[in-house]
Amino acid sequence: MPKPQPHDQAGPSSVPLPAEQPLPTAGLGPSTASVHAGEARQKPGFSITDPIFAASTYTFRDTQSIVDFIEEEHPREEYGRYGNPGERVVERKLAALEGGEMAVLFASGMGALVGLLMAHLSAGEEIVFFDECYHRSREFCRKHLTRFGVGFREVPTCDYEAMEAAITPRTKFIVSESPTNPHLSVVDIERFADIGRRRGVLTLIDATLCTPYNLRPLEAGVDFVLHSATKYLGGHNDLLAGVVVGSAEKLEPVRNLRGIMGGVNSPHNAYLLERGLKTFALRMERHNANGLAVARFLERHPRVAQVFYPGLESHPFHAVAARTMRGYGGLVTFLLRNADGSPADWRQTAKVIDAVKIPRIGPSLGGVESLIEQPMVMSYWNYSPAERAAFRIPDNMIRLALGIEDSADLISDLGRALDVA
Ligand SMILES: *Cc1c(COP(=O)(O)O)cnc(C)c1O
Repeated sequence: MPKPQPHDQAGPSSVPLPAEQPLPTAGLGPSTASVHAGEARQKPGFSITDPIFAASTYTFRDTQSIVDFIEEEHPREEYGRYGNPGERVVERKLAALEGGEMAVLFASGMGALVGLLMAHLSAGEEIVFFDECYHRSREFCRKHLTRFGVGFREVPTCDYEAMEAAITPRTKFIVSESPTNPHLSVVDIERFADIGRRRGVLTLIDATLCTPYNLRPLEAGVDFVLHSATKYLGGHNDLLAGVVVGSAEKLEPVRNLRGIMGGVNSPHNAYLLERGLKTFALRMERHNANGLAVARFLERHPRVAQVFYPGLESHPFHAVAARTMRGYGGLVTFLLRNADGSPADWRQTAKVIDAVKIPRIGPSLGGVESLIEQPMVMSYWNYSPAERAAFRIPDNMIRLALGIEDSADLISDLGRALDVA
């Protein structure tokens, strides 16, 4: 049977393949990469934007083209659970932004975490976390991975000796976030990667809060970077997605398992993410500027007992952050006090939350709209005071996820709320 001609595969609605990418992504600045990386220069219909391929399946011209596809003569799509052309654009863009070889996109950050760990961990192996990691990530390991015979340990965040001591011959993975949420602890990424290399364990950084704009974990030698793309990468509080970035060799099993688990994005959602990513670097500049300006304002305010923000000289991890990060992001946590200096109780703290007019009250972070919340109420209401103390979540803690509004407006709004509450 004659080989299909190129035009059979590369018609107007063909998949833009990596080989067609004329723009080398290495060395590009984050804004140029956000706008252009991963995209074909010429697109179907000569459109400047990528089309949304709302397809659950892909058809073959004839039997020989199926055989060619299976024998990997012609990479192309087959079925929606295994890939979509728009999803591949986003994956290439995210890989370029992170400086990684491959990215695998999931339907949420948690989907990405579960997919990565399930693909790499087997019964009898162990995983060690720094304890300030996202509570659902740790819950997955503690309650679910253990059911499959995978051991789970936690050590105090940034206690590198404790992390080393927890590693056994069965340990496969060490995991951290940086900065952590809501305490904004900053992991020394080089030290973390070095532990992994020396001890022969895989390293994973959940870099949702720093983003590739502020930190480059793969360059420091970390094996996997994970993001809840729901946050800064999507950036508009209008989608959920997750991604893991790393080497193709280590991510092929993750991609294969995703095809079985089915935690994929709809083509429309992938397009929303691509659209959001266009302004990623611009937005991060503003998030960083707003974070620093608001943190500095709060630090001087008499009603504020303590501010957690790695850009402040007073932050315990400021030196590490200043050495490793480009900026410090839009998340600012602070503790409220009364005029007499005593800690505010939870109801007084709630008054500040209820008095602000610009930030909306809600969980999440990383979108253009500022959000405000009281962790004790939003995430720890059903915990006992002792448990909250163990998690270091006092009643007077407020978490601000700053958006891209003007910092002067945010500051005057917060100042007024602090005065009236
Ligand atoms: C939100 C978040 C997650 C979970 O991501 P989803 O997209 O909500 O599933 C994981 N890690 C961190 C640090 C997050 O902020």
